[in-house]
Amino acid sequence: AYTDLTNYLKPEFAKRVLAEEYVEEVDPDISKPKPDFTLPRRELDPNKPMVALTFDDGPNKKTTVPILDILKENGSVATFFVLGNRVASNADILKRMLEEGSEIGNHSFNHKELTKLSYEELMDQVRSTQYAVIETTGFEPKLLRPTYGSFDDALQSSVEMPLILWSVDTRDWKSRDASSVLEHVLKNVRDGDIVLMHDIYDSTAEAVRLLVPELVSKGYQL
Ligand code: ZN
Repeated sequence: AYTDLTNYLKPEFAKRVLAEEYVEEVDPDISKPKPDFTLPRRELDPNKPMVALTFDDGPNKKTTVPILDILKENGSVATFFVLGNRVASNADILKRMLEEGSEIGNHSFNHKELTKLSYEELMDQVRSTQYAVIETTGFEPKLLRPTYGSFDDALQSSVEMPLILWSVDTRDWKSRDASSVLEHVLKNVRDGDIVLMHDIYDSTAEAVRLLVPELVSKGYQL
C-alpha cells in the first residue's frame, strides 16, 4: 500500500520510498540462522607490526583450502572477500574460515561493477551476498570490498558497511606468477598494509605458501 503512493510522488522521492521498502523486504536479520560455533578470539599486540592479507573473488576449493592450511600452520588469519554466488557450494570452506579466525567480507554476488548499477541492482548484489553468508555460516559480513576498487558517493551512502580497499596490489591476476607476487609483497610491505590477492589462482596459493611464514618470521602479525 505504501508503494502505491509512489505514483503521486516526484521521481526522486518515489525512488526513496521504493528503496526503503526494498531494504525492508530483504533485511537479513529477519530469518538469521544461529551459528553452531563461536568465533575464536584473536589476541594481537598493538605494539608489533601488522599486515592484513586479503583475498578476493573466491572461495575456490582447489586454491582456498591450501591457503587456509598455510594460515593455520602459521597461526595466522586473513580476510576473504567472497562472491555471493560461490558461497552455497563452498559452505564447508566458509565455516572453516570463521572457525579458524579468518574474516569473511562481501565482494558482491557475481562481480558486477557496483558504481554502474541502479540503486536496486546495487543493493541486490550486496544484500544477496550478505544473505548467502548468513544462511551458510550464521554470521553477517561486516566489510565490503567494492569490485575493481571502484566506489562513489552513491555506493558509500547506500551501503552501511565500511568499504575496504588495499595499499599493496600484488596484481596476482595479471602475472599468475608466484615468485613475482612474493617479491612484490616482501619488497613493498610495511606495518599497517592491506595486501590484495585473489584466492582463485594456483600461483597465488603457491605465493602464500612462502609468503606467510616469511612475514611471520619478519615479526608481522597477520
Ligand atoms: Zn574482484
